[in-house]
Amino acid sequence: MTECIPVKQRIMRGGDSKLNVIVVGAGLGGLGAAIAILLAGHNVLVLESASEISEVGAGIQILPNSSRVLQSWGMRAALAVHATRPKQVNILGWKGNLISSMNFQDSASRYPGTFYWDFHRASLHKCLLDRAVELGATVRCNSRVVDVRICGTGKEARVVMESGREIEADLVVGADGINSKLREVMLGREDPPIPTGDLAYRLLLYTSEMMKDPELASLVTDPQVNYWLGPDMHAVNYVLKGGKLFNMVLLVPDDMPAGASTLEGNVEEMRALYKDWDPRIPKLLSMCESVCKWRLCIRPGMDTWSHPSGAFTLLGDAVHATLPYLASGAGMSLEDAAVLGECLSRITSKASAEKQIALQIYENCRKGRTEMVVQRGNLQQYLYHLHDGPEQEERDRRMRMVPTPPGEALAWRDPELAPKLLGYDYLKDVSPMSRF
Ligand SMILES: Cc1cc2nc3c(=O)[nH]c(=O)nc-3n(C[C@H](O)[C@H](O)[C@H](O)COP(=O)(O)OP(=O)(O)OC[C@H]3O[C@@H](n4cnc5c(N)ncnc54)[C@H](O)[C@@H]3O)c2cc1C
Repeated sequence: MTECIPVKQRIMRGGDSKLNVIVVGAGLGGLGAAIAILLAGHNVLVLESASEISEVGAGIQILPNSSRVLQSWGMRAALAVHATRPKQVNILGWKGNLISSMNFQDSASRYPGTFYWDFHRASLHKCLLDRAVELGATVRCNSRVVDVRICGTGKEARVVMESGREIEADLVVGADGINSKLREVMLGREDPPIPTGDLAYRLLLYTSEMMKDPELASLVTDPQVNYWLGPDMHAVNYVLKGGKLFNMVLLVPDDMPAGASTLEGNVEEMRALYKDWDPRIPKLLSMCESVCKWRLCIRPGMDTWSHPSGAFTLLGDAVHATLPYLASGAGMSLEDAAVLGECLSRITSKASAEKQIALQIYENCRKGRTEMVVQRGNLQQYLYHLHDGPEQEERDRRMRMVPTPPGEALAWRDPELAPKLLGYDYLKDVSPMSRF
């Protein structure tokens, strides 16, 4: 019988230990934080700057570690309705030659109860929003936060919104993404994210057209995740929405003007970059009518994640945005949320000292791990983008070894990284550290 991940039951607590928490940002990390903190028995208000709760029209891969978190929040059944379950991941050379594959079921079976599922981001986001609201979250849009002030006593923090309105809370959690304002508030200075030299074209195709071409139809009828690796660029694709949509991400050298983070892309320019690749890619790109491009930036981490008062902390991309080359950025945000919720589940009063300990344990659990993921994302950039030649041949040879050695390019199988990355259990991480 398949092992199940235990579902966390909500803690019931009285007013003297029930925190009023404000989460800033209703992205995947912010909504995850709302769920985890509500399960810990506290109240949550989520403030989102956008006029409605929405996500980018693109896909997202959920790996075993983040599947463990989502299931522990009681979301397996809701997610199962929207999931695509790819059979395997294939790593191909840029001309279409298969280098190596990894079966997802075999890999997930090493981390019992977990899965590799793919989603349209809007579906995953909606499931998180529904669960947060079901648990009692209040979510307010049109609420851009521009400042956080620690109150005189140091026990509470006050968020200041663009409108001038201020709201007080026992704890403010900044989950406002890669261009985080709250990170700068915490640091007391400007701190823009660091460009990586790459950008991403993200596109979604309707598969009905693909089904007319026998070479492309099998990409839909037999769902698999494909990575093509080539000089300075790579491409990733997988199926979404029960085979109705085809998600493609093209990772290429950054040619965006300074200061821009997202721009309308030029379809002709994008096609030209891939004209000599595996003929299936130019065929797929010929079906695309418009595209957006995203500058890919990182945040290598922070010395301290929380304000010494214990009334203000940060989470997700705001702290440790990574290149998406391990498909792990959202996974890290969801893990942050789970660990933060677990630490806050153990407090017995609203005293600053208890919040400080909870936030210190949160940071101790998360800092090293998220920095490791950012660094490994950078290594993947190097490995994925090698030019044809001896280094690329050595990379491919290592991917074909049985078993493969540490540092191989198919990171989800790397014998050193994979158990750490995919086998992570936040309960085991928090418990030995607990000093409550
Ligand atoms: C091309 C690409 C592919 C990716 N693929 C994967 C993948 O397959 N798997 C994976 O795990 N990760 C993936 N990621 C990474 C993942 O998308 C991010 O790590 C994740 O979305 C971060 O979540 P977050 O909640 O921290 O930030 P965000 O999702 O950016 O959410 C931040 C929220 O805060 C709001 N906000 C911002 N400023 C304010 C303010 N001042 N006041 C109030 N609200 C504010 C924003 O509107 C937004 O809703 C990918 C990333 C990219 C670019």
